[in-house]
Amino acid sequence: MTSFRWLSASAIALAAVPLSAQQTPSFDTARIARHVQTLSSDAFEGRAPASRGEQMTVDYLVKEFTAAGLQPGGDLVNGQRQWTQKVPLLKSDLLSAPTVSVVTPTGPLNLAQGEQIAVRSPTNGQQQVQLNGAPIIFAGYGVSAPERQWDDFKGQDVKGKILVVLVNDPDFEGGEGQFGGKAMTYYGRWTYKYEEAARRGAAGVMIVHETDPASYGWATVKNSNTISMFDIVRQNPAGEHTPFESWIQRDTAVQLFRAAGLDFEQAKQAAKRRDFQPIDLKARLNATLNAKTEVINSNNVAAILPGRTRPDETVIYTAHHDHLGIGLPDTNGDRIYNGAADNATGVAHVIEQARAFARRPRPQRSVVFLVVAAEEKGLLGSEYYASNPLYPLAKTAGVLNTDVMGVNGRARNFTVRGSVKLDLIDRVVAEGRRQGRVLTPEPNPGAGSFFRSDHFPFAKVGVPAISYSPGNDLLNGGVARGTALAADYTAKRYHQPDDEFSPDWDYSGMVQDAQLLHRVGYALANSADWPEWAADAEFREIRQQSAAERGGVAPPPSNVPPAPETVPAPQGERG
Ligand SMILES: [Zn+2]
Repeated sequence: MTSFRWLSASAIALAAVPLSAQQTPSFDTARIARHVQTLSSDAFEGRAPASRGEQMTVDYLVKEFTAAGLQPGGDLVNGQRQWTQKVPLLKSDLLSAPTVSVVTPTGPLNLAQGEQIAVRSPTNGQQQVQLNGAPIIFAGYGVSAPERQWDDFKGQDVKGKILVVLVNDPDFEGGEGQFGGKAMTYYGRWTYKYEEAARRGAAGVMIVHETDPASYGWATVKNSNTISMFDIVRQNPAGEHTPFESWIQRDTAVQLFRAAGLDFEQAKQAAKRRDFQPIDLKARLNATLNAKTEVINSNNVAAILPGRTRPDETVIYTAHHDHLGIGLPDTNGDRIYNGAADNATGVAHVIEQARAFARRPRPQRSVVFLVVAAEEKGLLGSEYYASNPLYPLAKTAGVLNTDVMGVNGRARNFTVRGSVKLDLIDRVVAEGRRQGRVLTPEPNPGAGSFFRSDHFPFAKVGVPAISYSPGNDLLNGGVARGTALAADYTAKRYHQPDDEFSPDWDYSGMVQDAQLLHRVGYALANSADWPEWAADAEFREIRQQSAAERGGVAPPPSNVPPAPETVPAPQGERG
């Protein structure tokens, strides 16, 4: 790769702006704490998209970026950059709890919202959904992957039917197979299951929740699916969404199968095989959903430090500012989903990163601080940016995303979401080494975390983009304590009202991470480098088109076919 012109030129540029260790800026933990505490306070009401809390968040960010000396980097209106990029969203709210019942061969089964089932408010363009006796079939993993010779539908017409499907990939439990083993492909994502069902004209989907393959418990499913639903505004929403999108508890699935004289576990084993045939569950679904829908404007916030010599080229720091807002109460009656770790910490990082950049000699390239909206509704702010870029994607050298920073002190390691290979990661590893720290591969690639944060919409369009995550090998307590704290967070706070600020948090690790990310971004912004995906990375092909647009010498086309992960657009998750 070093034979390419733009890479050798970059080596010279790097050498021209050496960074000594002394130049690494310091980060102020008191300021970080103030940002996290303010943004996650009850006054901000959980920062739901387009809420009063979002407006307070936007105002806070504008105030901080202005004070830091940055310029507005958002929408161009009459030749003037605004601080925000408007993000039009379709918002859908159930007006009342949906009534859902299943007629089975052994009698009726009532499914209560939040208990046995979590039904999403429809985003298929309908406000009223009435299903009367829709046949229910088990469609295995709901996957149609011709290039992997895998088809769970076997030509069966599923129009007007309800599909019961399993989450994750068919080879998740076995650990090896057609779908990368434990690592999740896009076929394993629940968003994919909904999209495939919509492409086939199904009436709806019931995804069976199992904690291991889903990677989170029922509380997370319930809290993420029984509140307002959002999508970016689409031309043909029915092509992307069925009228009835839901998850059901595993016990409910077991009952449903038993009523048809079937064993759920046996059916699941059958679904792991290529010769799986859809199974008629001999049941029918009746459901009534009443929703109101509206188009609302959420906002990305963008600040820019214009580049000294090549301002049209950018390095972007991202973090999502939204969280889940006000929702169902927990056992203590708390209804505000404060989102302190997720992602007031990431926002605090971007604010302080912006300050750090503003206090140094301006880099050659522009640096954009993009605080995106509606991540929790399906990466919608970053998806919108990737579809409507404020700065050319072909000239975006890299995206460094932070979604949940460390608050448990310094760590000997750090991680990056997913298992992709990318020059940008090599740079992170090199800077980590300078700090005496190492990259630890993601412990749980089966959770599909690569598809679950704001770097992904950028990666999908070829822009080198990573989500950096704190390490778990803590100086105080090692991996044992780090793992225990992470498990405790997932069980008790992740996407729950208890993700709240604590005065006891230790930001020393976050400072170290900020310094590492600063050095990576500053060096990239002062170079002519275009980090590249590895030869077997699924996002390489599309990036080569960008290289051609830039007038660079594109690497020869790789023989690796684009992976299916890049084909369907993600509809939602929960970072
Ligand atoms: Zn998040």
